[in-house]
Amino acid sequence: MDKIITKSQIRMAAEQAYNYATTVTGGANANYIPFLANINPDLFGMSVMLPDGTAVNLGDTQYRFGIESVSKVPTAILAMKQSGTQAVLDKIGADATGLPFNSIFAILLENDHPSTPLVNAGAISACSMIEPNGDSDGKWEAIIDNITGLCGSAPELIDELYKSESATNFNNRAITWLLKNYGRIYDDPDMSLDLYTRQCSLGITTEQLAVMAATIAAGGVNPISGKSVFESEISPKITTLIATVGFYQNSGDWLYTSGIPAKSGVGGGVLGVLPGVLGIAAFAPPLDNAGNSVKAQAAIKKFMEILGLGVLNGDRVIIKE
Ligand code: GLN
Repeated sequence: MDKIITKSQIRMAAEQAYNYATTVTGGANANYIPFLANINPDLFGMSVMLPDGTAVNLGDTQYRFGIESVSKVPTAILAMKQSGTQAVLDKIGADATGLPFNSIFAILLENDHPSTPLVNAGAISACSMIEPNGDSDGKWEAIIDNITGLCGSAPELIDELYKSESATNFNNRAITWLLKNYGRIYDDPDMSLDLYTRQCSLGITTEQLAVMAATIAAGGVNPISGKSVFESEISPKITTLIATVGFYQNSGDWLYTSGIPAKSGVGGGVLGVLPGVLGIAAFAPPLDNAGNSVKAQAAIKKFMEILGLGVLNGDRVIIKE
């Protein structure tokens, strides 16, 4: 069925959802990365971006927070751009793990496979796949250029977060070397882990993430720059990964209740993609047990509910002035 919604309905739904979510409490900042434990837990922002560049920004949408695991999305896109979607499937995989993001057990269960680029194992493996092979600076430049193209503006490294994370990432070191043992690290292991840790430490705003989400929703065309930043065939592939594992062990519950594929990070950010329709991002530091922002989830879920949208509803959504 055709479902017609207006831009003012989208704006009103965003405002209502944002206001509702300000009343939602609970959760706690990530504390296994010391820097994140000290971020003001009351920060809260939400941004919606349409493929034609229409934006709705509410609250702390200019605040640069740690992108953390949301960075797994652009780097998976970059690996697909450079090596093709089949190579990412063959070398990393596309299966949900049903387990926490940093699970070592998941690697063993998947027959020594990193499972998907959207958990730590697969994301470290994806960093090892990035070209130019063997060149840390070149790889980092490619990662940053790719995020900049997707967001229409550059992210900025939060140096203190990078230091904090590098000093405490023992579990990720174990993952990296286990994957190396299984032939799933395609460059120097320490360099690959360092690139992963650095990309997680990038500061980003909800405004930027909403543009990235809308670019994915629009088949690779950035609504702000108007540039095509990746082949449209990558959109359904990355959205599949987001839908199946974006919220880790809670991914099924999330899609069932919200109707939108979304990816979280322990910095408190969430990026949601409604293919062909819109991109959305929200940020608030307190997290639930799976590491997903409590307020960001509440806001996005409410927004979808108010508008009656859902990726699996079977509707053709038409946005009018
Ligand atoms: N850098 C974090 C880690 O590797 C990212 C985890 C996350 O955001 N879920 O543990």
